[in-house]
Amino acid sequence: MTKSESKPRPFPVIHKNLCKACDRCIITCKNQALEMSQELNDSGYNYAEYIGEGCIGCGDCYYSCPEPLAIEVHIPIKIAKNKSENKINDEEG
Ligand code: SF4
Ligand code: SF4
Repeated sequence: MTKSESKPRPFPVIHKNLCKACDRCIITCKNQALEMSQELNDSGYNYAEYIGEGCIGCGDCYYSCPEPLAIEVHIPIKIAKNKSENKINDEEG
C-alpha cells in the first residue's frame, strides 16, 4: 500500500431518507464528487450519493443543503495529523 492510499481522506455522509433530491449539493460540489441515485428513498425521492472519491472536505455540500442533518462531512485528516504530532512528541519525550 502506498503512503497516499493509506492517508485518511475527508468524505461526506448523506442520510438518504432526509434527502429531497433538490440537486444543490451536486451542483455546488466543485470536485463532482456527488451524484443522484437511481434508487428512491423511503419518501419516494432520488437521493444524493458520494461517488467514493474526490471529496476534499470543503463543506460546500453541507452548507448548500436545505435539509437539516441530511449531510455530514467527515474530515479525518485533522485527527490523523494530531495523532502523528502526538507520536512525534512521544518519541521526543
Ligand atoms: S465536502 Fe466539498 S468536495 Fe466533499 S462532497 Fe462536499 S462539496 Fe464535494
Ligand atoms: S442538497 Fe440536501 S436535499 Fe438537496 S440533493 Fe443534496 S442532500 Fe439532498
